[in-house]
Amino acid sequence: MNDTCIFCRIVAGEIPATVVRETDTTLAFRDIAPKAPVHILVITKAHHPDVATLGHADPALAGDLLAAAADVAEREGLRGDGFRLMFNTGEYGGQEVDHVHAHLLGGRPLGPMLVTG
Ligand code: AMP
Repeated sequence: MNDTCIFCRIVAGEIPATVVRETDTTLAFRDIAPKAPVHILVITKAHHPDVATLGHADPALAGDLLAAAADVAEREGLRGDGFRLMFNTGEYGGQEVDHVHAHLLGGRPLGPMLVTG
């Protein structure tokens, strides 16, 4: 637990969130500013700053995170039409919260992966 990390505080129950799925090692909750009809953040309960750090430090936990994201996609009915799973990482990746999180987005065609220009 990192006391200054907003997602650690959600895991600890100190900040409210709309939780859609919880496992021993992961938590999934709705993004507070959704960019698509379905926009869910899937995080590890343990604090890792980003997906690269997590992947090296604890590959099994990285697998838990992907399995949780796949479960949530299924439960939200996104498997048929498809969805996007995205890890913003670092400054150029546009990461704002330094606690690893997958954005699960879906519910409409999401368009091109990047806005160019
Ligand atoms: P990123 O830019 O990849 O770090 O994304 C951080 C995401 O966290 C943004 O989409 C925010 O809308 C979302 N967010 C920030 N605070 C909260 C919160 N308290 N509950 C749910 N989502 C949040």
